[in-house]
Amino acid sequence: MQNRTSEIIIVGGGAAGLAAAVLCARNGLDVTLLEQNDRLGKKILVSGNGKCNIGNRTISPKRFHSQNPAFVKKVLDGYDAKVIETFFHSIGLELVEGKEGKLFPMSMQAASVVELLEYAAQEAGVKIVCSCAVNRIDRVDNHFTLETSQGDYKTKTLLLASGSVAAPKLGGSSSGYAFATRMGHTLVPRHPSLVQLVSEERWVKQCAGVKLPGVATLFANGVQITQKEGDLLFTPYGISGLAILDLSREVSLHLAQFDYCELSLDLMPRFSKEQLTNLLVGRVNAKSQKPLSLWLQGILHKKLVARILEVSKVKAKTESELNRKEIGKLVYALKHLKLSIADTKGFEHAEVATGGVDTTEVDPETMMSKVVENLYFAGEILDVDGNRGGFNFHFAWISAMRAAKATSAPASSDTSTSV
Ligand SMILES: Cc1cc2nc3c(=O)[nH]c(=O)nc-3n(C[C@H](O)[C@H](O)[C@H](O)COP(=O)(O)OP(=O)(O)OC[C@H]3O[C@@H](n4cnc5c(N)ncnc54)[C@H](O)[C@@H]3O)c2cc1C
Repeated sequence: MQNRTSEIIIVGGGAAGLAAAVLCARNGLDVTLLEQNDRLGKKILVSGNGKCNIGNRTISPKRFHSQNPAFVKKVLDGYDAKVIETFFHSIGLELVEGKEGKLFPMSMQAASVVELLEYAAQEAGVKIVCSCAVNRIDRVDNHFTLETSQGDYKTKTLLLASGSVAAPKLGGSSSGYAFATRMGHTLVPRHPSLVQLVSEERWVKQCAGVKLPGVATLFANGVQITQKEGDLLFTPYGISGLAILDLSREVSLHLAQFDYCELSLDLMPRFSKEQLTNLLVGRVNAKSQKPLSLWLQGILHKKLVARILEVSKVKAKTESELNRKEIGKLVYALKHLKLSIADTKGFEHAEVATGGVDTTEVDPETMMSKVVENLYFAGEILDVDGNRGGFNFHFAWISAMRAAKATSAPASSDTSTSV
């Protein structure tokens, strides 16, 4: 097959690759975008439950994780939510703010994000090649040669925007890591994050389907690590819900060190210990022979009642048999329900991966490799992951903007002029 050349080749038509392609082409570069899937932006399409939480108003380095926090700080510098809004406005997409500073497309449709990015890329002249998996990259005479499922390509400038290993059904792949290491880069270990947790405790299965607001505290080898508030959702395999996704990163890291991970669940976070005690005491009718399990159903989902009665070890069988000591045991169980964690649901179900290309080897100003000239990175392939709330997309867009600015002709000064 013939060897096609392009001024810049971008590997990966996800968030970072698409944004970079639009900006590079608008800056006058001849751009080819190679995407292994049959369509662009599959992760964008499913993100935010189909609404795409595209960014966040409250950008701060504290919302991101990396072994090199100084890199994240420098990349974020000057690239806040306004920059994202300006870029999306330039492609015809308006954003609106939801709870906790989360930004969404005004259409509330992830599909509109992908369609407008794709249109902007085509309009700017990007050559988009879908169903094109890059299988091998070599550096020959100051050029990169790419072996793909659709023949060979050659370029002087290469942008790896091939994402992370998370969510393989949507294009998650470790191929970008392999290309980077082959060219001399090192990797920070990858672990699933923003992911559901697996528990082998039998009672959890029996509670499957129960969802309630709560607080989850993670203990690793008995030491408190972190605490998150939000929905708790019991499932046939373990536990999910927003509070769980938010602490899953820490669980992943501790499980990888073979630490014993246990959650302590507060099922009644709206009540302090004293308030809950008063509530329960006030509910007791000393003359009632109501079974204790039914009495508890007055405040708790039926499926959880059996577990609370079991772990609290109350002796009372009826409401009338309850005394202050027994109520104290119930209060403790309701606010400290223990759940051992065996595993996470893995990369298959994770929204993002921790780790990636070591950012000490990448210039935060330009996203260019310090190891290989004219090799650039953008997005989740790098050792940067964000909290839930639009932070992962934020990093994808702004790292793409930095790479586009650096790879474009010297005449183009910054993204504010190029968008
Ligand atoms: C279910 C789900 C929901 C999410 N929701 C949100 C959200 O609401 N807000 C948020 O901020 N983040 C969210 N994320 C995370 C967000 O999607 C990612 O952080 C973001 O997409 C990373 O962008 P990227 O361009 O680096 O990688 P990707 O978007 O993954 O793009 C990489 C692309 O490269 C392609 N590719 C990989 N290897 C090759 C190869 N060898 N050859 C050719 N192509 C290749 C892949 O197919 C893929 O299309 C969610 C993730 C998932 C899985």
